[in-house]
Amino acid sequence: LIEGQGLYSADDDVEILTNNNFKKIIYGQKNAWIVEFYNSWCGFCQRFAPSWKSLAKDIKDWKNIIKVGAIDCSDDDNSALCRNFEIMAYPTLKYFHENYIEDSKHLGADVTKGTDMGEHKNYLIKHMILEQENKRGLDFPTLLPYKHSNILHLFDSNVNAKYVFLVIDKPESMLGPQLSLDFNAYKEICVRYATTENEALTKKFKIQSYPFMTVLTDSNTSHDFNGQLKSREDFRTAIIEYVNPSLVIKKNDDSGLFTGKWVNAEVPDIGSLIEAISKKQLRDKVKKMGNVVFQADLESALRYSLKHEIGTTKDIFGEKLDALKAYFSVLIKYFPFGIQGKAFLEELLDLLKDKVSLDGATIVEVVNKYDTEAANVFSSKHQWIACDGSTSEKRGYPCGLWMLFHFLTVEASEKTNMPKEVLHAMKGYIKNYFGCADCSRHFQEMAVSRDLEGVTSANSAILWLWMAHNTVNKRLSGDVSEDPEFPKVQFPSATNCPKCRLGTNWDYNEVLKYLKIMYNSLNIRYIGAD
Ligand code: FAD
Repeated sequence: LIEGQGLYSADDDVEILTNNNFKKIIYGQKNAWIVEFYNSWCGFCQRFAPSWKSLAKDIKDWKNIIKVGAIDCSDDDNSALCRNFEIMAYPTLKYFHENYIEDSKHLGADVTKGTDMGEHKNYLIKHMILEQENKRGLDFPTLLPYKHSNILHLFDSNVNAKYVFLVIDKPESMLGPQLSLDFNAYKEICVRYATTENEALTKKFKIQSYPFMTVLTDSNTSHDFNGQLKSREDFRTAIIEYVNPSLVIKKNDDSGLFTGKWVNAEVPDIGSLIEAISKKQLRDKVKKMGNVVFQADLESALRYSLKHEIGTTKDIFGEKLDALKAYFSVLIKYFPFGIQGKAFLEELLDLLKDKVSLDGATIVEVVNKYDTEAANVFSSKHQWIACDGSTSEKRGYPCGLWMLFHFLTVEASEKTNMPKEVLHAMKGYIKNYFGCADCSRHFQEMAVSRDLEGVTSANSAILWLWMAHNTVNKRLSGDVSEDPEFPKVQFPSATNCPKCRLGTNWDYNEVLKYLKIMYNSLNIRYIGAD
């Protein structure tokens, strides 16, 4: 993947949407759209992307009816758009019906995501059926089950069809609607389906096993397909063979059933290759320094959280507002900013005073005002140093956010004795703003299972977060989201802190010492140092 390109490339059948093309592509179209709003740094989104690409490939013959797109909300240019659509968790799937127009009351319909391509497709079809029940998509093939007892009515609403295939299967099966969509481009072919609940039909055809299919033609003949048809592929082939044997395409032909599209292989851009080499040199240099904290990483995490997570939340009120106050309060106390930086954070907290609700865009305005060289708040531009990943979707923000909260727990232990203050602020932030929905849920579960409320001292708060982070490291070790240059290990590694380990156990005092040194404000590195 090329830097800044997100999780999809031109080779995929997923349309890459951006702030610039979104309206033109999605609004006022004859077809509907299913769009994934994602975040390229979110591990869940990285694991999700292959199944989204498979879905787009699998249903590309449905393009007159529905198309598949994706938009990267972590891209600065797209964040305002994601905010307008009130995207609070990643990935979020939204369905935009045909002829969708801008409407603040209907920001696309949420569609449940599955765990694999087949499940995504089933949820999508269920949603499309719901749309037709609500009188949308009426120009699309009928996706509602056939409920008449008399098959002659099948031709009533399909006057153009020469062949009507009727599929009968169990109520939960999505085979019938899939086949209707598969053959949508063929005027002469119409596929309808009924469920086993239509007893008149199941009796009429004396069906022995499901799924069953029969075909009725306009010349009043019919033919039942008894026997071996099981998969969608079997049914598609049987339909094509019946209508015109010359149309049959080999099953293994991955150019699609009807349409083959050749795309040029992506040619890497020389400029980005050169940049990748020098970035790698920098990463290697930083790795040699051991576990160090860079001001640029903390600032970039802060900036990102303000602009892209809080900033994309349209309606901040109630629990969200309280979580934001807690977050800003700990930042004011412990974030390693100078005087101007503290004034900036205080202005942010002031914005919340006496407010019942506010739009995240207000926060972005203030951040933009201070995010200039002249304001002297941020020490460097947005960039990742110790959190730089070997590709653009690896590491970055989640890495910076972990470091930020570790830093805050250590700093709090030096300055006050409010053991749970930072952990509570973090819990509220992760619950209400952190874009990776799966991570957020896991973290909330961990707060209960690992008894966050049982933390009684500032030192145990540092260790609680260290242990929680190691639990996540363990779960993600070997996962696709792992950066091969930075394998997930139990932290700190035996090489980085030999004293921290007592055989297979930890020496908690040594771990605490290690964390207090690593995340100490005196040890923060600025760009250019070393
Ligand atoms: P990270 O794990 O992000 O670590 C960043 C840096 O922190 C490391 O480079 C190291 O210097 C230091 N560090 C590592 N471990 C510790 C430790 N135990 N104590 C102190 N410092 C340490 N992704 C998922 O796919 N599923 C999840 O459920 C999930 N939950 C998350 C929950 C939270 C609160 C956050 C902030 C992120 C979560 N992520 C999750 C993202 C994931 O944990 C990583 O942040 C991401 O994969 C990037 O990994 P990384 O290699 O940069 O290292």
